[in-house]
Amino acid sequence: MESLEDRIKDFARRLGVEVVGIAGPERLHGPPSLDLSYTMPGARSVVAMALPMHEGALYEFLAKRSPAPHNLDQFLNYQRLQRIGKDLADYLVSQGHRAVGVPLSADYRRAVYVFRPRPAFSLRLGAVAAGIAAQGWSGNAVTREYGASVYLGAVLTDANLRSDPPLPPRYFTDGFCAKCKRCVKACPTGMFVAGESEYLLLNGELLPRGRRRFPLRASPRAKARDALASIVNWHRYYGGLEPRTLWRSRVYALKLRAAIRAGAPGKCGERRPVKKGRDESGR
Ligand code: SF4
Repeated sequence: MESLEDRIKDFARRLGVEVVGIAGPERLHGPPSLDLSYTMPGARSVVAMALPMHEGALYEFLAKRSPAPHNLDQFLNYQRLQRIGKDLADYLVSQGHRAVGVPLSADYRRAVYVFRPRPAFSLRLGAVAAGIAAQGWSGNAVTREYGASVYLGAVLTDANLRSDPPLPPRYFTDGFCAKCKRCVKACPTGMFVAGESEYLLLNGELLPRGRRRFPLRASPRAKARDALASIVNWHRYYGGLEPRTLWRSRVYALKLRAAIRAGAPGKCGERRPVKKGRDESGR
């Protein structure tokens, strides 16, 4: 007789999901956002799924020709994944287990520090734990089948499921990413460092990704300056812009940067000069 794991995968494939994997209880030791009980008390396993993005729509978006096809593709596929998650959860319930589809967006844990919310459940870590993805240099979940151009979904269940084999921790960072590093060049805020790693501890293994710069930056103003400085590179990197548009955007970026320099304190901690006729509170 077919195992429950095989039946779950068959069910998902019948609904059009080609990339599907399972992580059982022994494969869920990681950051708090991998703790299933926040979303479903008593859950022990996760079924992770990925649907591919529409390639043509993605190129339209990245070439800045039109965001509409990709936005529509995103909307439709998240609706679809939500529906598939519900159907798969219903199937597991029909097999005598409890199960729930993970809400796919804006579902965060309550936190005191509201500017750094943590997801109720990390679909990215779920995909890595279930063996359908590994971290890329950007930290995104990258699949063998479709790269990082995927929409992720998941179902949590109290069934004690057998795990699929994980991808090696350096599968992409030492493989495709080592030659690519386009996320480093393209990130408008210059968030990643090209040659230095930081690590995520998952199931006793260290998973590398590019080191983030931001925690080391001095101030929001420094971040703004960095962001502006790299606008030019962003446009240069992603082709598809008219030369005139490209030129205008460069001039705009340079003007903004000059304006910030003129009005900004030189060093972190210096205060703005107080304008005549106003007190320090700006009134
Ligand atoms: S290095 Fe390339 S493949 Fe790897 S995460 Fe960055 S953009 Fe994606």
